[in-house]
Amino acid sequence: MIPTPYYLIDESALMRNMQVMDRIRERSGAKLLLALKCFATWSAFDLMSPHMDGTTSSSLYEVKLGRQKFGKETHAYSVAFSDHEIDEVVAHSDKIIFNSLNQFLRFESRAGGKPKGLRLNPGVSCAGFDLADPARPFSRLGETDPERILSIIDRLDGVMIHNNCENDRFESFDALLGQVEQRYGDILRRLKWVSLGGGISFTEPGYAVDALCDRLKRFAQDYGVQVYLEPGEAAVRHTTTLEVSVLDVGFRGKNLAVVDSSTEAHMLDLLIYRETAPIGQGRGEHAYEICGKTCLAGDIFGEGLFEQPLQVGDRISIGDAGGYTMVKKNWFNGIDMPAIAIRKADGSVRLVRAFSFDDYVGSLS
Ligand SMILES: *Cc1c(COP(=O)(O)O)cnc(C)c1O
Repeated sequence: MIPTPYYLIDESALMRNMQVMDRIRERSGAKLLLALKCFATWSAFDLMSPHMDGTTSSSLYEVKLGRQKFGKETHAYSVAFSDHEIDEVVAHSDKIIFNSLNQFLRFESRAGGKPKGLRLNPGVSCAGFDLADPARPFSRLGETDPERILSIIDRLDGVMIHNNCENDRFESFDALLGQVEQRYGDILRRLKWVSLGGGISFTEPGYAVDALCDRLKRFAQDYGVQVYLEPGEAAVRHTTTLEVSVLDVGFRGKNLAVVDSSTEAHMLDLLIYRETAPIGQGRGEHAYEICGKTCLAGDIFGEGLFEQPLQVGDRISIGDAGGYTMVKKNWFNGIDMPAIAIRKADGSVRLVRAFSFDDYVGSLS
């Protein structure tokens, strides 16, 4: 048995999401790029790349990883490219998308003939959290003023709009896109491609996938553009668990179990977005608060129900550990970095990466 802690990616679950990708590509004509900032565990890319069209990135390292490990189409985007990285970014990308008019003007001559895009911030969004809202007041993410975008329209091939976050309602996506069409229709008509970003929860059970496809297809026809989507979370939702072991149990007004992992180090978004993870099978009459082993007082994964009282050595699965987890893991408290394993469709589990004390030492100097 693989020692805990480790992230466990389930190939069958990933394939279910990839089948939705295929359906969307086929029915809508949109191209689907994996957003590497959400999930960059390249051991899973062989399984994903036949069902997606490539990757999109937020930095030089991501664009290089996409090119080397995923292949197919590679989009480069960054909130700000620096002078010393732009040539390498261009060399590894098929399209380059600038965040601002300033960045576009600064680097367009170094784009080497590659198609160039600009991030369009429509000023409206669906995001539950101010921290993750691209349309928040004073946002630095993209250009909003149509006049500024029109000033370079003849040198622009496309735009990228990312204004959805965990949006699980087609009606909401539809309404937001309608607002974009109203305000920016003249711009859209003059482009070759439009990326509508990520944040659409189309792999959530019950999502109106066909309605989404038909809407995307109509949008592509109305404006004469190739549509792209940039799913991150939707690609890996419900595919991965964090496997941990109980190290200690106790009672402090409620039952607590301390496990060999940590929210802050291994599932950071639980802390940032004040969420809890689904834990265990979710049934049984023994309730426990599952706590991390760092010294952070609020290092808590969430509540789990169990059929038997928990004991030291018991293993627990913490759910929804695929997106924004492995890309954010860190060495806080010097605790063990979870390994990464993949459960194949036949049930066998393959360890693809383990970390050691040397990796910890090597991460600092
Ligand atoms: C974060 C991000 C994505 C992916 O978002 P998900 O919510 O994980 O689908 C796609 N495009 C851009 C520009 C992003 O910033």
